[in-house]
Amino acid sequence: IGPGDTPLSVLKRVFGYDAFRGDQAAVIDQVMAGGQAVVLMPTGGGKSLCYQVPALLRPGTGVVVSPLIALMEDQVEAVRQLGVRAAYLNSTQDAASRRQAEASLRAGQLDLLYVAPERLLTPGCLELLRSAPIALFAIDEAHCVSQWGHDFRPDYLGLGQLGQLWPEVPRLALTATATPATRQEIIDRLDLAAAKVFVSDFDRPNIFYRIEPKNQVKDQLLSFITSEHAGQTGIVYALARSTTETVAAYLADRGVTALAYHAGLSADERRRVQRRFLREDGVVVVATIAFGMGIDKPDVRFVAHIDLPKSVEGYYQETGRAGRDGEPAEAWMAYGLNDVVQLRRMIAESPADDLHRRLQTRLLDAMLALCETPGCRRQQLLAYFGQSMDTACGHCDTCQQPPQTWDGTIPAQKLLSTIVRLDRERHQRFGAGHLIDIVRGQQTARVAQYRHDQLTTFGLGADLSEPEWRAIVRQLLARGDLAILPGGHGVLGLTAASSAVLRGQTTVELRREVLIGRSRKTSRSAKTGAGATAAASSAPAATDLTAAEQERFERLRAWRAATAKDRGLPAYVVFHDSTLRALAQAEPRTIEELASISGIGAAKQAAYGEAVLAVLDPATTAVAEAEETVPAAEKSDAASAQGGTVEPAGQVDRPSQERG
Ligand code: ADP
Ligand code: ZN
Repeated sequence: IGPGDTPLSVLKRVFGYDAFRGDQAAVIDQVMAGGQAVVLMPTGGGKSLCYQVPALLRPGTGVVVSPLIALMEDQVEAVRQLGVRAAYLNSTQDAASRRQAEASLRAGQLDLLYVAPERLLTPGCLELLRSAPIALFAIDEAHCVSQWGHDFRPDYLGLGQLGQLWPEVPRLALTATATPATRQEIIDRLDLAAAKVFVSDFDRPNIFYRIEPKNQVKDQLLSFITSEHAGQTGIVYALARSTTETVAAYLADRGVTALAYHAGLSADERRRVQRRFLREDGVVVVATIAFGMGIDKPDVRFVAHIDLPKSVEGYYQETGRAGRDGEPAEAWMAYGLNDVVQLRRMIAESPADDLHRRLQTRLLDAMLALCETPGCRRQQLLAYFGQSMDTACGHCDTCQQPPQTWDGTIPAQKLLSTIVRLDRERHQRFGAGHLIDIVRGQQTARVAQYRHDQLTTFGLGADLSEPEWRAIVRQLLARGDLAILPGGHGVLGLTAASSAVLRGQTTVELRREVLIGRSRKTSRSAKTGAGATAAASSAPAATDLTAAEQERFERLRAWRAATAKDRGLPAYVVFHDSTLRALAQAEPRTIEELASISGIGAAKQAAYGEAVLAVLDPATTAVAEAEETVPAAEKSDAASAQGGTVEPAGQVDRPSQERG
């Protein structure tokens, strides 16, 4: 980097990109001019460049504060691959590597230093930073400073003092959580009143959003993965640790490379899972929310929720981990009555104070509204973040198949008046299951025990099936026409809104549930999907490639896998899929042509340029074809590295064929 360099020349030469995206250029200008910035960009929006480019251009070291200790090593490795001088300081590293990072900093040999907040705020570290010129402070995941948010980290509160300690150093706070309240907290607590605020468009157009009723969730998940995302990288989120383990085992038994991840695992085990996820192609991690914050693996093709997230913020952040490379990706969720009961109960029974409980209820209500909306999911999501969209997106489940609604007032009245009658007779209170048995007229042991067949509402709702009733109860809970009472096991009670329904003053408009039996499409592709799962290296959805381009893409992919393995790097650190695709399409013949491809900067051109040209050289194609076995050998390598979880295709096929 020399005096003649500009942000754009650095972008081109170091990162290999042609143009800045969105607010990047404006943020960089602000920081280059010595100002402060608050940057709100969706996950995958390109926050890193906002501090990496000015850190390279300004004298001194750019200090990046990040809570993502487990990932620092990978983050540092990724920028080193670009020729950037980077190091990190956190509690996981050994003394020697810490001393080396400190010495490099003192010697003025670092462009970027990643530091965990708890480490940064120690007297020793503050002292260390005073010994070297600082180019900027970048506070990543800045929403962690929000005490009322969904990701609070107490250490972040201490970061407010950086402004007093280094008044002349530009500071940026960056986050993907953009609600106006969080934004204000960031400004207040990080002492950024003077900052320029950059709010980008929060839409992630390449993500398809889908939320379906929960039924047999493991089956639903399996068919979602095998029929639409076989062999692809994905994250499955669940609430309970035990669920992550049973679901990962279930998937693994059926040929999906699936691993569980939760806070109860040892640090070593967690690191191992994270590493495999980052480095191998096509690993599915089934995790609690402890997984994935700041994981910038660009080629995650799907994020699935098998339990309801507690807030839209959390949901959007988690789903945002899909498709950072801009290629098609999917956010899928299965959601049912039990989710609502469980989360409402957790809030009702939480030891938090009233204010906090009200806040959590508000967060959950917004999440439920998203699940139940008959309108466009994306419009609803963006509206939550204060951004409006004039027309429906056309790229979500409700846009593609607008849900039918029906007037559920009468069934709702039957259910609510059952509760009224039980209350009147001072019966103990009951949960959804028993209430549904009553309205459906089921002669269960409990019905007999309490003589609930004597209630006037007994059997009045026999015209609807149990799943239909569960959908009704779920929607009444989501609408607030029913409540989960504290202190019990999900017992249902009335709310202020219930009486209006009972008196017929409001109509209860409900979504008609398409009960997901297995649709023809799903079961058919599930079969072929399982085969593709076994061959865990099938290409990610490459949308618009011709056959010849696809063939080159596959060759490049095989080369990338071998190269990444040789160098001990994650494949995407060598090149992103999007770069391979551009290479496959442009077919460069010379180094100059190659250099014009997005994602190939000077360092990568030097490291891989010749090799890529050789892979693309038509003269070597014949050789490559003769060596058809290369990718196959890759596969079996991958299989043995996976500890034998990938079984011979014959065995893998069976479970899904039975389902068909
Ligand atoms: P965030 O931190 O906001 O989630 P990243 O900084 O990880 O996003 O960027 C997401 C992806 O987009 C990365 O793979 C990055 O290399 C790529 N990217 C960022 N800015 C640009 C750009 N100007 N041109 C092309 N690709 C970019
Ligand atoms: Zn839509």
